[in-house]
Amino acid sequence: MCQSFLCVPCSGWKPCARMDDCLSIEEILPGMKSWSAKIIVQEKRQPATASASPTRYQKLIFVDAKGSQVEGILFNHAIQVMGPRLTVFKRYKISNAEVRLIDEKYRTDGLTTQWVISTKTVVEELPDDTDMMPTRFSYTMFKDLAQFMEQKNQFVDILAVVISVLPVTSFTNEFGTGRVQKFVVINEEKLPLQLSLFNEFIDNEGQKIAENMNNFPVIVCRRLKVKPFNGIALSTRKDSTILIDPPIQEAMLLKNWATENAMLFVQVIKDKSYARYNPDLFTHSSQKFTLIYFLQSTQKFAWVRASMSFENIFQRYWYMACKKSFKAIDASYGYSYSCNKCSEHQKATPRCRFDVILSDKSGRVTATLFGDLAEKLLTYSALDAMQYFHKNIELPLMHVHEALRAKEFAVQIQPAASHYGDPQQRYTILHYYESNFAEASTQQTIESPGSFLLESPLQIPTAETQDAQSPITSVQINLASKFDEAATPQANSPETSPELISASKKPKLA
Ligand SMILES: [Zn+2]
Repeated sequence: MCQSFLCVPCSGWKPCARMDDCLSIEEILPGMKSWSAKIIVQEKRQPATASASPTRYQKLIFVDAKGSQVEGILFNHAIQVMGPRLTVFKRYKISNAEVRLIDEKYRTDGLTTQWVISTKTVVEELPDDTDMMPTRFSYTMFKDLAQFMEQKNQFVDILAVVISVLPVTSFTNEFGTGRVQKFVVINEEKLPLQLSLFNEFIDNEGQKIAENMNNFPVIVCRRLKVKPFNGIALSTRKDSTILIDPPIQEAMLLKNWATENAMLFVQVIKDKSYARYNPDLFTHSSQKFTLIYFLQSTQKFAWVRASMSFENIFQRYWYMACKKSFKAIDASYGYSYSCNKCSEHQKATPRCRFDVILSDKSGRVTATLFGDLAEKLLTYSALDAMQYFHKNIELPLMHVHEALRAKEFAVQIQPAASHYGDPQQRYTILHYYESNFAEASTQQTIESPGSFLLESPLQIPTAETQDAQSPITSVQINLASKFDEAATPQANSPETSPELISASKKPKLA
């Protein structure tokens, strides 16, 4: 079947005797001429531009029957000419491409050799056979994703089924404008997540996924970024690849699982549980605690194991806000107005917000709780707090302070913008739960309940504590002006409300 072709090494049209003797990928060495190999295109990335020159390139991964892989690369004009001829999952016989070692700094996926597919390279499509594609992917479990969050040059491969397609939206950031489309993905772990596809991924893979939604499209995504959005979310990078319904065993098993779990997906989509913080995604990563002393404001988020206290902070526990955007507003309860942030007609609604001191053996830090998370710790709703405030009665909190003295929490925090010119970095609490590994450290807390407060009086130089130190016991002081901004956690996108769910375990009072 090997006919005459443009033989690169011989520079002429002639049959090559060795063309039918196909070699395996491993047998084809850098600099080798006159060879042929049968491969499957396992991956094809989006074309990209080199960082130091205007050279355009597109990378592919070829795999042979033995499961060996090699990188294929197209440059400039070859991207238009040869790119469309190489389809993912199709089989080809490739001959006489230039074989070279990849410079160490350009290596990905542990591949050391590349075949340069030029417009002169012989590429013949072979008939499909139904064999499974040899696979070498290892997938990250959703429960393990948190440890890859915001890590430089860390990315993950996942296998998942797409259960919902959300609309395309436009955005503008410091790099310009772009488009993003979110997809809800799930696997046997039953932890739904949002996967964001950006720009060209929307038109290619995104479109194909959307067209196949009635058939539970299974995707293999390689080199995704893990982001702290609603807890955890995934997004494409420029060098990501998405394979839709790949002919691999794991994908077929997952599709079977999907057909049996259609009812679960209906429920997930109805509840929108993918858009909320899911503590189950952090069960592994929460082991990685940071001592407060070592917190850095450049960290996107951190977990600390700390006690919480707000006994000595004089504060109001609510502010009036837009129900949707949580932007503070100077209006009375129920007043109808046009929100300056979300530009919608809203009714002024009280929202719970207060500060606590997080403290471990290494130090302490001020952190703010919002919304449901705040109400849960406070044991009062924002509306309750507002009513007490208006009646000029102090919120009865003795039972809360008492209970907190004996407790230790795992707390996920992120740096907050300072609104008060504080010298100390403030934090926003994204999530907390009562730590269940506290046996050793609770003892210490019980022996000297609240001792950190007694030994060294609070010296957090906020307006609230300054007020607290003055002999005023009434809550009448209007602190509203100091709560001007609803510092909503940045981990949540502007279009999604940061309603975080706390997962407090059973109370463990001494
Ligand atoms: Zn609003």
